[in-house]
Amino acid sequence: MQCKMCEQQNNIKNDPYFIMELETGYVILGCFQRFKGYTVFNCKEHGPELHNLEHNFKIKHLEEMSLVAEAVSNVFKPDKMNYELMGNGCPHIHWHLYPRVKGDTPIISSIYQLPNSVLFDESTRPSDEVREDYKNRIKNEIERLLAVNE
Ligand SMILES: [Zn+2]
Repeated sequence: MQCKMCEQQNNIKNDPYFIMELETGYVILGCFQRFKGYTVFNCKEHGPELHNLEHNFKIKHLEEMSLVAEAVSNVFKPDKMNYELMGNGCPHIHWHLYPRVKGDTPIISSIYQLPNSVLFDESTRPSDEVREDYKNRIKNEIERLLAVNE
């Protein structure tokens, strides 16, 4: 059985949304920017559950996920970050990191109160210019945080 995320990772550096590679995963800008700065962090290891990862890899992966979220937060200045690991559709660990701002949904809760037609609205797909700008800003901030943490 082929995993679409493992398959995508073979060629991920050519993906226009690819931001950068870290030790345990790949940072990718979300294709839809209904939530400005939405970023995905894909684990290099295949599998659905964190607890099945080798211990040291798991700790490093969580640390890197947190660092990606911190970078997104520093760049986009949301009121709150949302960290989401689901994998119901694709059983390969990937984090959805959503910057949230007051009033971005009708009820203060999960983004999934919004219908797919809103979440994946083509009009929220960034232009090439915006996409490159977001990618550069996120990448620069991740690199800055990595250097500070060294
Ligand atoms: Zn996979």
